[in-house]
Amino acid sequence: MDDSSTKITETTNSFEIAKQQLQIVADAMDLNPGVHEILKRPQRELTVNFPVKMDDGSIQEFTGYRVHHNLARGPAKGGIRFHPETEIDEVRALALWMTIKCAVVNIPFGGAKGGVACDPQKLSSGELERLTRRYTSEISILLGPDKDIPAPDVGTNGQIMAWLMDTYSQQVGHTVPAVVTGKPLAIGGSEGRVEATGRGVVTVAREALLASGGQLPDSRIVVQGFGNVGGAAAALFFRSGAKVIAVSDVNGALFNPKGIDILALQAYQRETKTLIGFPGAEPIPTEDFLTTPCDLLIPAALQNQITAANAPHIKARFVIEGANGPTTPPADIILRENGVTVVPDVLANAGGVTVSYFEWVQSLQSFFWSENEVNSKLESIMVKAFQQVQAAAKRHSCDLRTAAYIVGVSRVADAIQARGIYP
Ligand code: NAD
Repeated sequence: MDDSSTKITETTNSFEIAKQQLQIVADAMDLNPGVHEILKRPQRELTVNFPVKMDDGSIQEFTGYRVHHNLARGPAKGGIRFHPETEIDEVRALALWMTIKCAVVNIPFGGAKGGVACDPQKLSSGELERLTRRYTSEISILLGPDKDIPAPDVGTNGQIMAWLMDTYSQQVGHTVPAVVTGKPLAIGGSEGRVEATGRGVVTVAREALLASGGQLPDSRIVVQGFGNVGGAAAALFFRSGAKVIAVSDVNGALFNPKGIDILALQAYQRETKTLIGFPGAEPIPTEDFLTTPCDLLIPAALQNQITAANAPHIKARFVIEGANGPTTPPADIILRENGVTVVPDVLANAGGVTVSYFEWVQSLQSFFWSENEVNSKLESIMVKAFQQVQAAAKRHSCDLRTAAYIVGVSRVADAIQARGIYP
């Protein structure tokens, strides 16, 4: 694909990156300029500053956000991030990527994202609950099972979704399970949701390998991030017979060329709350981690991990983006030139929102599916999306990210055009 009409520059501003990606696709597919203008900006954004009573009796002020990027295809859907560096441009980018992602897997949602600038590791459980409830209350003008349905993201989990659901339900006066997904099974969560994103990552990794004549068993895999996405993906890779040779989290990195016993590592992490000190692997410096030679590199931590600086040294055949936005646009070009296939975030990590959709449907109907039903429906959606993206890549002679955006943006554009511009 010709990048000549698009200005690609290295930046760590995620929203600038998202707009560069959109520009590349607008050029590649000759996108209607009006639709392009609509997609460049979020439809609505809410910033909230709110106080939380801390355990020591002091009052601390926090800032949170909820952004709706585009709602042409359905209610707003997207996770909530609790992280010290969360800011509005990060949330805008994540919301834009959600619009594209929901369209790539063809589920009836628009894109949204939320976040609070805070370090959940430094808050007590009581402080975290009060922060979550007050943030929910502040953004509740946007929320609702037909309006905006949050889910977990970095730094949030099922417990936080339960507090969110309870707070919203208290406000409207009755229990509303469908206002949130990723909630615990005890209050109407879905079987299979916790590991859904990781399962989707493994499914597209398998399909990408198969398409190039490879297979998962014996593939060497490196996973950055050992949370909801990275931990679940690593465990499923391990169970499939692949060799997970290196993993990392915010505290450090581990390496074992013979393959790490991921189930033993998960048990160690549950007990000690860290990967560090695990006896079944050697510690390695985090600086060299992403350049470990492997078949599949799975960034599953945060954005901007593969940049123009380290992309030339990546020695993987495939990068499967478990995280959102782990690769910058200049790094994308370098990887492509070096023959590294990138399976983009808007496809690779769409398993989470797909099972969130299943959870929402189950919550609305109060009728629940077995884990097998959830996993097999997830499998068929991910495989179909992979095939459609691959076919678009062939049709347009482009990389998989551009192809995924062409598939997603075309569906969003069709919805915008079918609904028309009001008034
Ligand atoms: P999480 O909070 O459960 O885990 C994040 C992991 O990354 C932790 O293990 C943390 O220690 C590690 N980490 C943080 N900084 C790191 C660094 N500099 N180097 C190495 N590891 C680091 O978050 P998550 O839900 O697993 O989300 C991870 C990524 O996947 C994010 O980009 C998120 O937006 C994306 N994602 C999540 C979901 C979901 O369902 N949770 C769905 C789609 C995409």
